[in-house]
Amino acid sequence: MPKRALVTGAAGFLGSHLTDRLIAEGLDVLGVDNFSTGNPGNLAHLASEPRFTFEQRDICEAFDPGAVDFVFNLASPASPPEYLRLALETLSVGSKGTENALAIAHRYGASFLHASTSECYGDPLVHPQPESYWGNVNPVGPRSVYDEAKRFAESLTMAWHRYRGVNTHLVRIFNTYGPRLHPSDGRVISNFVMQALRGEPLTVYGDGSQTRSFCFVSDLIEGIFRLALSKEHMPVNIGNPTEFTILECAEAVLEVTGSSSTLVYAPLPQDDPTRRQPDIERARTLLGWEPKISLREGLRLSLDFFRSGI
Ligand code: NAD
Ligand code: UDP
Repeated sequence: MPKRALVTGAAGFLGSHLTDRLIAEGLDVLGVDNFSTGNPGNLAHLASEPRFTFEQRDICEAFDPGAVDFVFNLASPASPPEYLRLALETLSVGSKGTENALAIAHRYGASFLHASTSECYGDPLVHPQPESYWGNVNPVGPRSVYDEAKRFAESLTMAWHRYRGVNTHLVRIFNTYGPRLHPSDGRVISNFVMQALRGEPLTVYGDGSQTRSFCFVSDLIEGIFRLALSKEHMPVNIGNPTEFTILECAEAVLEVTGSSSTLVYAPLPQDDPTRRQPDIERARTLLGWEPKISLREGLRLSLDFFRSGI
């Protein structure tokens, strides 16, 4: 009998790539998604895949997927404009939705992996960020609907591990991009690439000196897959440690697209972290993992996808 996995948020950017990987590894996959930020097009290529089934549902309502060996909990809005639009839903999926997913893992003795985030570190006072850093998060600012939902979900996951014996894993994902990143969901890579391809000015928020560290999707999925098979229960950062200012990111996008777009400056969103860079020592030693794809290579690998969205 092949192993069976449940993927929540399967119609999203990362969920659809993870589903592809699990099917390629020989698993049967049940994907669930409520299409709040994902879309069926991300799974269209699996329409005739016998080992894939899909259910449209909100994971905040309890459900029974039948016996599973793995639960991958990726359901949650992830882009700042989307989680601000879906503020209450984001808090619910991080709390109720995650609890429902953990209960499924407990019922069937399945391993559980939760997609957490570098946002747990908030606007970090320690740089780069190791997993041992507890973060600097505004608990009542606009971003708190996402940051605190994710921090609560980590706490919930650890409690189900400690008190219910679930085999849990926590991945702290740093900014990831690639094909299927929604062209209009407002994240910096999709915004910049679409603007560059359309010949529109690139919208730099603030003075562009804030930093991010961008991971290509295939590197991220490899890290998640290795973590799911590991015995590690404490959080593990998965991200690319090469740090870019947002201005350097704009420069890379202009170079790779060959665009002559200009830059236009817009206000920095409240509590936008000033810097972000993963310390990936734990991923290296525990999982033998490190990213392989540079930002410029990853952008080149994403261009066909973004071109098709114009
Ligand atoms: P995405 O928006 O493309 O995917 C999220 C998916 O979850 C969507 O398909 C959405 O419809 C679904 N969803 C949301 N609420 C749901 C609910 N209540 N019930 C069922 N489905 C629901 O975002 P993504 O970039 O693929 O992110 C996937 C996960 O990874 C998220 O949990 C996100 O917080 C985390 N993450 C992503 C990044 C990144 O850079 N992409 C960074 C850190 C963490
Ligand atoms: N950003 C920007 N222009 C855009 C979109 C985002 O300058 O069109 C900035 C944003 O202010 C942040 C960084 O790029 O400093 C990354 O933003 P994103 O929304 O991709 O993810 P975050 O890391 O903030 O969750």
